[in-house]
This record gives sequence, structure tokens and C-alpha cells, in this order.
Amino acid sequence: SIPVLTIDGPSGAGKGTVSRAVAKLLQWHYLDSGSIYRSLAIAVLQAQVALEDLAAIKQIAEAMQLEFDCGDVLLVRLAGVDITSQLGTETTGNVASIVAAYPEVRAILLQKQKDFQQLPGLVADGRDMGSVVFPEAEFKVFLTASAEERADRRYKQLIEKGIDANLLQITREIEERDRRDRERATAPLTVPEGAIYIDSSSLSIQQVIDVVIDLVHK
Ligand code: C5P
Repeated sequence: SIPVLTIDGPSGAGKGTVSRAVAKLLQWHYLDSGSIYRSLAIAVLQAQVALEDLAAIKQIAEAMQLEFDCGDVLLVRLAGVDITSQLGTETTGNVASIVAAYPEVRAILLQKQKDFQQLPGLVADGRDMGSVVFPEAEFKVFLTASAEERADRRYKQLIEKGIDANLLQITREIEERDRRDRERATAPLTVPEGAIYIDSSSLSIQQVIDVVIDLVHK
């Protein structure tokens, strides 16, 4: 069977950076599942439907034409249009976490995610990769960090990009999103069965990468 390494955890724990680096080192495919939910959020915002309108959101999720280009930088096209620059915004992330709370939406996006499992292997980054999408994965990691540390990293990223940011507000938003991800009925954020648990609060990215690569190579 095609090997899968799942990396789950809350936003800002370094999953994206670690997953991308590990996929590159192993020369495996990379699934950034958050960007699928983010793309749906962008499609929903574009269609200007209410976030309570589940029927409309389901229709958008089913019809969504996504193309992923997972090179050094992720490039995403929605219905042929490049939406990469909108993927990382706070609004997109917040709306993504709202639409992701609908079980019907998660069911629609399930197969789109499974399709990424291709030879020689897949690194799957998300919230429910090891528990729901790839429960049979050979390698599983749960990567987390304290809310303060994650807010601090996010804050620095924004400042670096020249975006005005407020640390307290970011911390609150991270805590709010954590709560939504943890408490939702379908696929709540949990440590998957068989996953190794890594708290990256006091580790460098390189240290985390080393632990993950060791797991796959041993
Ligand atoms: O990881 P990222 O911040 O890009 O994900 C955006 C949102 O999408 C998360 O807050 C979460 O609610 C949702 N998500 C999810 N399941 C995944 C990946 C992301 O519910 N596998």
C-alpha cells in the first residue's frame, strides 16, 4: 500500500512548514488539507451566501473546481482563477473553520483529500488526517504548541509581511478557532490513535523535522 504520513494539530503549530519540508526530503506528495477548506471559504465568500445556508454551501463544495500545484510554493486555482494570495488571510481562516464544522461539508471534501494518496507516498497535513481521512496511515504525528507561542509566531509572520497585527487579538482568535475545532461534533481535533505527540513550543523547526524523519526512517 502507498505510505502515508499524517501530521495533525492546531493552526500555528508549524505543521505547514514541517510537512512541506518533510515531503520534500522524502520526495513524497503533499496534501495541505487546510487549503481545501480555505478554498471552499473563498468560494463561499465569493458567492456571498450566508454561513448558515448549509444547502448552498454544500452545493458550492460539490461544484468546486480546484487545482493544486504543490511545488515549493502552493498554488491554488478555483475555477481556473489563481486564489493563492487570498488563502492565508484571517477572514479566510475563520470562514474555513466555520464551514469545516458542517459534517456534510466534511463528507463532500473527503474523497478530494483521499485522491492525494499517490506513489511514492503522501504527507498529509491537517486536523483529522490520522483519525478520519487516512486512519490506516503507517506514520502519524500530532504536532502542537501553546496558544501563546502559536499566536506569537503568527504575529511575527504578519509583521514580517508588513501587515499590521495585534498580538492580543490574534491570541483570542487562535483560542476561539481551537475551541471550534475541538468542540465540533464531526472530526473534532484529537490526537489520532497511534500518533506520536510533539509539543513544538520549545523546539526549532529543524528539531521537529528531525523527529518526524526519524519516525519514517526507523
Ligand atoms: O490549517 P489551516 O489553518 O489552513 O485550516 C483552516 C481551517 O480549516 C481550520 O481552522 C479548520 O477548522 C479547518 N480544517 C479542518 N480539517 C482539516 C484542515 C483544516 O477542519 N483537515
